[in-house]
Amino acid sequence: MFTNVRFITSATNRKQYPEEGVCEFLFCGKSNVGKSSLINALCNRKRLAFVGKTAGMTRLLNFYSTGQNIRLVDAPGYGYYEKKKNDINNFENIIREYFQYRSDCKALLLLLNIQRDVDDQDEMLLDMAAEYKIPAVIVLTKADKLSNNQRASRISKLAQQLEIDKQDIHVTSSESKQGIEELYQLLVDLSQES
Ligand code: GDP
Repeated sequence: MFTNVRFITSATNRKQYPEEGVCEFLFCGKSNVGKSSLINALCNRKRLAFVGKTAGMTRLLNFYSTGQNIRLVDAPGYGYYEKKKNDINNFENIIREYFQYRSDCKALLLLLNIQRDVDDQDEMLLDMAAEYKIPAVIVLTKADKLSNNQRASRISKLAQQLEIDKQDIHVTSSESKQGIEELYQLLVDLSQES
């Protein structure tokens, strides 16, 4: 786990990003997918990633340093509450600008609730990452909510929807801590690839 995580700054555009030169992972997912809980679990903290939720910073990218050569970048949650086209466009623009101009971005971590199907906005993010040649890591959340059998069948279904191999899906639970240490290790490994 990351043990020395600190909030650096929030940004909506590239002028506000922190200094370059550190490998970054962008965390995206629908509101309520469990993104804050996952980031907190990865960092062994309780309320780190919840700070932005209460301070009107939910329309921003929040950058965290980890004490290692890795930064975590928390994107605004999307979905459920965003019926307005403006909000969706605004979100898309923030992410597009980040992918386009941030050469430090090593991968998109797309979080999906293990109990829900992939939707248009999830697909839009995957397409955008592909467009800018950013690798995508699929992370399923809330795995503790299902039995082993249900879990296996959901993983198969989602792999099919995403047209990827089951082995490439990372199954996690912030509640039981399943897959958290493995995800941490994956980020460390990816950060060390040239
Ligand atoms: P965010 O909106 O994506 O940041 O989601 P949160 O981390 O705030 O989580 C949304 C809700 O899902 C909260 O009630 C969490 O307690 C719950 N939750 C998050 N992760 C898990 C998990 O791994 N297992 C279970 N059972 N609930 C979770």
